[in-house]
Amino acid sequence: MVNAVTEHSYDVIVVGGGPAGASTGALLAEKGHRVVILEKEHFPRYHVGESLMPFCYFSLERLGVLDQMKEIGYTQKLSVQFVTMDGKRSNPFYFFQHRDHPSSYTWQVERSDFDQMLFQRASACGAETVEGFRVRQFLRDDSGTVIGVRGTGHDGIEKELYARVTVDATGRDALAMSKERWRERDPELGKIAIWTYFKGAMRDPGLDAGSTTVAYLPEKGWFWYIPLRNNIVSVGAVADRDYFYSESRDPAEIMAREIEKNAWIKEHLAPGKQFGEYWVTGEYSYRSKYCADNGLLLVGDAFSFLDPVFSSGVFLALKSGEMAADAIDRALISNDTSAAQFEPYGKELCSHIETMRKLVYAFYDDNFSFGKLIRKHPDVRPDLTDCLVGNMATNFEPLFEGMRDFAELPAELDYGFKAAPGSKPSVATAM
Ligand SMILES: Cc1cc2nc3c(=O)[nH]c(=O)nc-3n(C[C@H](O)[C@H](O)[C@H](O)COP(=O)(O)OP(=O)(O)OC[C@H]3O[C@@H](n4cnc5c(N)ncnc54)[C@H](O)[C@@H]3O)c2cc1C
Repeated sequence: MVNAVTEHSYDVIVVGGGPAGASTGALLAEKGHRVVILEKEHFPRYHVGESLMPFCYFSLERLGVLDQMKEIGYTQKLSVQFVTMDGKRSNPFYFFQHRDHPSSYTWQVERSDFDQMLFQRASACGAETVEGFRVRQFLRDDSGTVIGVRGTGHDGIEKELYARVTVDATGRDALAMSKERWRERDPELGKIAIWTYFKGAMRDPGLDAGSTTVAYLPEKGWFWYIPLRNNIVSVGAVADRDYFYSESRDPAEIMAREIEKNAWIKEHLAPGKQFGEYWVTGEYSYRSKYCADNGLLLVGDAFSFLDPVFSSGVFLALKSGEMAADAIDRALISNDTSAAQFEPYGKELCSHIETMRKLVYAFYDDNFSFGKLIRKHPDVRPDLTDCLVGNMATNFEPLFEGMRDFAELPAELDYGFKAAPGSKPSVATAM
């Protein structure tokens, strides 16, 4: 038997303490709002997604953690490179050749440390941070406005917390999407990923030692190869389900089979020793039908997940956290936390996601290669690099025009930027 205990009231409850939740919570607390972040796990906890995009720099700068990033000493990532199945490497895209700025020297991060650092930063900014608290439900008033959450703390006692705005930052658990059936899968991007870790695998020399490598597999599958600290490499394979499971369903067997198919991956992993478990995930590339409801906003993977081939996940999580914090701040100040207030947030976030989505679709198109694109349209190389680093302020139309010579780019999805239907503007009452 659990007791329902009504707890404190806040301006904002953030559910989930990953990069999206921690950044939303930190920035709102910094602005003086009463914020609590509820995280079901205890930090440091494992998470996949180690390769950062250069423009994470600006979010990390705003969060005030750049010095810490440098002190921790993560592997420096200076480029991304692409490798064909027979082991031929493209010229790496060195970010510093494009822009001479500290943001061009980004990192490969162990997410256990990185996420803990951001969570602690939120606490230092004044947010109350609670670990071991699993939110099970959003609470709504009679009009349907979200007014808080119900969940269970590590003591096993069920609690209710109330706030003027609740943020769903639950990552791929995607609490609101699951409860409300808002999840829409991206039709063409139904992949699965299998990944694990190797110790002592090969690193390229010099500037390329920390590079992210994307190495091709048959039928437009691919490997990631991400060098981390302590001589560890994160290695994962992404492909269609039918392709992976054609001979076996055992992830270790599938991984071993696929390693044989790419000469570069095979050579680089040969001196290494695999350790730990093999991880598998499906549910690739989805977006919520709605970005918001009255009193509720979705951020990071809880709003949308895009195939990770260009390492855009943490970038979009941090960016959405920043944008959500600004939108919620405005809503709280104007005392209007209705869903309509959050539509500009949804619109801007969807436009960033659509930019990356076009690149992902081109990547999976049989006709497309970066080499072909740059040979035919050398003038779009700077725009392509802007896209790969996350510089969303660029006009990408010339790049997309060039890409259309080789790939069918997807129409933009007509959902995600809208607020939930039936959400009528409602003036929030202070609690
Ligand atoms: C195979 C794969 C490879 C990837 N590779 C990369 C990469 O190289 N680079 C990159 O940038 N991105 C990568 N990503 C994406 C990246 O992992 C995510 O985009 C990023 O972690 C999103 O951050 P988030 O804060 O939205 O969610 P998360 O980081 O998942 O954080 C959500 C948090 O919410 C907590 N939570 C969930 N449910 C509840 C609940 N009910 N109550 C309380 N707390 C809850 C979770 O414990 C978690 O801590 C990859 C993803 C996958 C699947």
